[in-house]
Amino acid sequence: MSSIAVCPGSFDPITVGHLNIISRTAKLFDRVIVVVMTNARKASGAFSPEERVDFIRRSITDLPNVEVDYYDGLLAEYVEKKGAVAIVKGLRVLSDYEDEFKQALTNKKLAKNVETIFMVTDTEYMFLSSSVVKEVCRFGGDVSDFVPAPIKDDIVKRLRER
Ligand code: ADP
Repeated sequence: MSSIAVCPGSFDPITVGHLNIISRTAKLFDRVIVVVMTNARKASGAFSPEERVDFIRRSITDLPNVEVDYYDGLLAEYVEKKGAVAIVKGLRVLSDYEDEFKQALTNKKLAKNVETIFMVTDTEYMFLSSSVVKEVCRFGGDVSDFVPAPIKDDIVKRLRER
C-alpha cells in the first residue's frame, strides 16, 4: 500500500518556506497531498481558496507525487478520508510550537491512527511566513526570494490591486 502524507495550511500565499517542507516530505512518502484550509483564527485572507490552490499547483510542477486540494472542514476527518498515515507540519521558531502541539494532540484524539510529524525548517526560511510576503509586497519590496518563481508576478500584481 502506498504511504500518503498530508501537508495542511492556509498558504495565503504559498512561500518558498512551505515549498521546502513540501518537497522534503515528497522524498519520504509515496504521495503528498497539500491541502488548503481556512483557519478560523486567522482573518479572511488575502487570496481566495481557489487562488491559493492555483498558486500551489503552479509551484509543484516538478514534484510528480504531490497534489493539491481544498477542504473546508476538520483536518482529522480529511486525513482519514484520504487514507493518509501522517500530517506533516513545518516548524520555524519556538513560538510555532505551542499551537502546533495542541493541534497535534487534538488530531491524535480525533484520528488515532494518524501521526503528526514536525519537520524543522531549513535555516534560510526561519523568518519566512505568508504575512511577511504580504507586508513586504504591500510596501513595494522585492519578494523574489520569498515566493516560488512561477507565481511571483501574479502574487505581486494581485496584492497591489487589493
Ligand atoms: P503561516 O504560518 O505562514 O500562515 P500556514 O498556516 O500556511 O503558515 O502554514 C502551513 C504549515 O507550513 C505550518 O505547519 C507552518 O508551520 C509551516 N510553515 C510556514 N512557513 C514555513 C517556513 N518558512 N518554514 C517551514 N515551515 C513553514
